[in-house]
Amino acid sequence: MSTYAIRTFGCQMNHSDSERVSQVMQKAGFKLTEEDLADLLIVNTCSVRQKAEDKAYGFMTKHKRANKNVKIAITGCMVRQTGDRENSRDPLFSFDSIDIAFRIEDTARMPKLLERHFREHDFSQFEEAFGDGSIENYFNIVPKVENKAQVFVPIMQGCDKFCTYCIVPFTRGREISRPLEDVLAECKVLVEAGAKEITLLGQNVNSYKDGEKGEKCFAKLLLEVDKLHVMGLSRTRFTSAHPQDFTDDVIDALAHMKTRCPYIHLPVQHGSNQTLRAMNRNYTIDKYNDIIAKIRTAMPDTTLATDIIVGFPGETEEQFQELCDFADELKLDFSYTAIFSPRKHTPAARMEKEFIDMEEKKSRFHRFDEIVKKHAFAQRAKFVGKEVEVLVEKSEVAENGLYRNAGRTREFFEVWFLAGRPLKGKEVMVTLDEQKGYVFSGTMPEVEAQKYAAPALLKVLAV
Ligand code: SF4
Repeated sequence: MSTYAIRTFGCQMNHSDSERVSQVMQKAGFKLTEEDLADLLIVNTCSVRQKAEDKAYGFMTKHKRANKNVKIAITGCMVRQTGDRENSRDPLFSFDSIDIAFRIEDTARMPKLLERHFREHDFSQFEEAFGDGSIENYFNIVPKVENKAQVFVPIMQGCDKFCTYCIVPFTRGREISRPLEDVLAECKVLVEAGAKEITLLGQNVNSYKDGEKGEKCFAKLLLEVDKLHVMGLSRTRFTSAHPQDFTDDVIDALAHMKTRCPYIHLPVQHGSNQTLRAMNRNYTIDKYNDIIAKIRTAMPDTTLATDIIVGFPGETEEQFQELCDFADELKLDFSYTAIFSPRKHTPAARMEKEFIDMEEKKSRFHRFDEIVKKHAFAQRAKFVGKEVEVLVEKSEVAENGLYRNAGRTREFFEVWFLAGRPLKGKEVMVTLDEQKGYVFSGTMPEVEAQKYAAPALLKVLAV
């Protein structure tokens, strides 16, 4: 039996896409294995920064050198055309290690591309499973979910915003939303299978429409997903949102949801109106602050995260200072901060004359980071001593027969604690004992700890 492995770089969207790719591979009769052993290595790429692309290239080179027979298929944000080395002129194939490239929307076409490379493999199962073309639409592929308790559901693909630094509209194409009934049907199946947390995914989730019909209706979608609370859904999250479409009805819907998490990730990218204009972000700092004020009035418990680019071409010291003042006033709980790096084919990449020296960019990054940390740590410190609900994401063996579990609170804080069992996928109560930077360590309250004690200990308790 032919085997495959997938390496995913980048964001949750890519991880979710990989789950759909994995389903297609298994329907095509391939078996999942370790990267070093795979006949086919699928690399799901990110191109948000040059470093991300370099990592993918490095990974492919390493594997092709170690095993020249391995076939490498590349997908994700670095791919613009579907094809293989023999029939495509895509410049990606100037890189020797790549055999096949496929756009994520063409996932269902991928087994066809593989036929030439895997002549011994029987692809008939795939034809039988999907010969009717039922998965021609990428969204209709049922993902091979890795963690049943925490699932990711794409609601739209692509982007119409054309921020000047971003390659996404060119790689992922224009916005396409899934029909609401399809999204809800997928969410329902996942909750029935044990999902406690659903993250709705898209490049701009809040410009979601019901399929290609009518008006934007992200608020309606949130309220519909929230109804799955009665079936056991506990948390609804979403990413990424855009300030331009963060309308009052979305805030109102959030405030009424039983599965709401008091955490908003709303990328602002900069704190200077001039820089925002140069980035083509289509809103002002006043507009952003207004949204946050409304969120904090309606839901005062909300923690706030954002994305920032430091050192955008032409960013003056004065504009950088505006960014620092903005962050100081807003008291962010977290920032995904990046140093500007030009992406080929984007308008910002052509602003070479205004590029900022790397040392200066790094210095601004650190100055900004200090401001974010000051507020983020102070806000987290207020949670020490509190008992909070944690959804466990990973568990590993610790000492004395215990397990080290890690998960996130509803506010998206990372928490580590010991328990008698691996608790991945469970929602448990944890007292936050200590905060180190962005991370907490905690202990389970007595009653909870007994509930999840090691089996041996349970016997002792029962005697
Ligand atoms: S909104 Fe801007 S940054 Fe986000 S995907 Fe679209 S173009 Fe890229």
